[in-house]
Amino acid sequence: GAEPSFDGFHIKDLTFSYKQGEEEEQILSDVSLEIPKNGILGIVGKSGSGKSTLIKLLMRFWDAEKGEISISGKPIKEWSTNGLRALESYVIQDTYLFEDTIENNVKLARLGSTHEQVVEACKKANIHEWIESLPNGYDTVIGEGNHQLSGGERQRIGIARAFLHNSEVILLDEPTSNLDSLNEAEILKVLKEQQKDKTIILVSHRQSTMKIADRVIRMKEGRAS
Ligand code: ATP
Ligand code: MG
Repeated sequence: GAEPSFDGFHIKDLTFSYKQGEEEEQILSDVSLEIPKNGILGIVGKSGSGKSTLIKLLMRFWDAEKGEISISGKPIKEWSTNGLRALESYVIQDTYLFEDTIENNVKLARLGSTHEQVVEACKKANIHEWIESLPNGYDTVIGEGNHQLSGGERQRIGIARAFLHNSEVILLDEPTSNLDSLNEAEILKVLKEQQKDKTIILVSHRQSTMKIADRVIRMKEGRAS
């Protein structure tokens, strides 16, 4: 279906707990937040404060108990799944890889993309040279023989997927936690260059990562400030 264009996330009185209806601690309590289109929003806060939960609600993993998230005047629960999927990319700490070639593992972010597009995304994610150094390059099958990837290599594959998907919104939940500072800096530079026409939401515990954010919010006791 035709979805309205993206004008940012409008979060109004969002309340959420994992076991709705039962007595359980609210993870988010009446969170109201405007996330404008374009630019980088950082999210910080203690472990367990609800950062990942908020990111997942933006993707509609679950619906809120109360309040809502809307885009262009339309609550996301009225968006089609395909509409939201096309709009958003999600990079997590633990990138899931399939027992398939590196090429196909990246390509699943946008089926039908060309080898050149895959390479371009991998260059941006700072993983191209490493892939090229493997005897079978992009045709290397992950999980076979010696080709188990390190945490940082997996994360860079996850980031390459996001660059290939080229969606308007990129949600990054601790995307660089396993990377050394040089790798991280190069990837953040690419993200920063893109942010003029992308909306990037970045969760990280590292202060160095947060330096690229235009605005930082802190989650605490179910609230965002
Ligand atoms: P971290 O910095 O450690 O990643 P976080 O801020 O991302 O923490 P969340 O993952 O959003 O925190 O978790 C918030 C709270 O919700 C925690 O108390 C956590 O135990 C709980 N929680 C998270 N996911 C689930 C789930 N799927 N089911 C039940 N409880 C959950
Ligand atoms: Mg988290």
